[in-house]
Amino acid sequence: VVVHGGAGSVSEAKRHAHVEGCKRGARAGMAALEKGATALEGAIEAVAQLENDELFNAGTGASLTAEATLELDASVMEGTTKRGGAVALLPPFGHPVRVARAVLEDGRHVFYAGPEAAAFAREAGFAPSSLEAMRTEAAVERLERFRRGQVGEGWAGGTVGAVVIDGRGRTAAATSTGGTVGKRPGRIGDTPVLGAGTYADDEAGACSATGIGETILRGCLAHEATVLLRHGVPARQAAESAIAAFGRRVEGEGGLIVVDRTGAVGLAWNTETMSHAVARAGEPVWGGC
Ligand code: ASP
Repeated sequence: VVVHGGAGSVSEAKRHAHVEGCKRGARAGMAALEKGATALEGAIEAVAQLENDELFNAGTGASLTAEATLELDASVMEGTTKRGGAVALLPPFGHPVRVARAVLEDGRHVFYAGPEAAAFAREAGFAPSSLEAMRTEAAVERLERFRRGQVGEGWAGGTVGAVVIDGRGRTAAATSTGGTVGKRPGRIGDTPVLGAGTYADDEAGACSATGIGETILRGCLAHEATVLLRHGVPARQAAESAIAAFGRRVEGEGGLIVVDRTGAVGLAWNTETMSHAVARAGEPVWGGC
């Protein structure tokens, strides 16, 4: 189980907390696998844990739009079946990643946005949350800093994602975010878009991306990295090559995590930091930033 807690620039003082948060996410995914969960369920448990954690820009504590609202984006993909599920512009619901999973299981469509995504979530049995319940002081402060011009357009940080391979070689990826701070309402980033923010294919591996969504969308980053894995490029090299090409081709800014079909892990980013953690059965969980 590999997780990231977003590409960006986490200050030295906060790095430890971000890494610890990622480790908790990775452990949640691993705990599910140890109880017999599939790779998909493991990825969802890892991301759901990070959505609960106010430190990260997903679920509770997610970044606010220019109008101080929440518009949440998430996607999941299962590598065995190539089934996917995604939601964008979702109003407050505690776990966008679980709603995305319900879209996958429902199977009729892959991607819902806005009020209709919320209607789908309600029909699927999810109880709506509220802005008051999910808005944190830190998110309000980030928006104020953005309004004062102290953080550049597009800055986010703290998006979360997970890639998993289980004992049967099944792969999955999941990603969740509030998007970039102060985004114009209606803006959709890479996170809910299969091939941009999330991709999984058992013949290759799985990838979750993070960074400036507009560049990731134009670079089809998660798919590009997965294609390298399919061609047999080892995970670490695939991650590094995909990020190098992303920087060069579309002036991309961000990072990604991959796991290949052999269980090897790759991590790469061209931002200052990308918090991450890795859990493997029978080994201590490790992380970095
Ligand atoms: N990729 C996300 C977005 O653009 C932000 C992030 O990864 O921090 O919505």
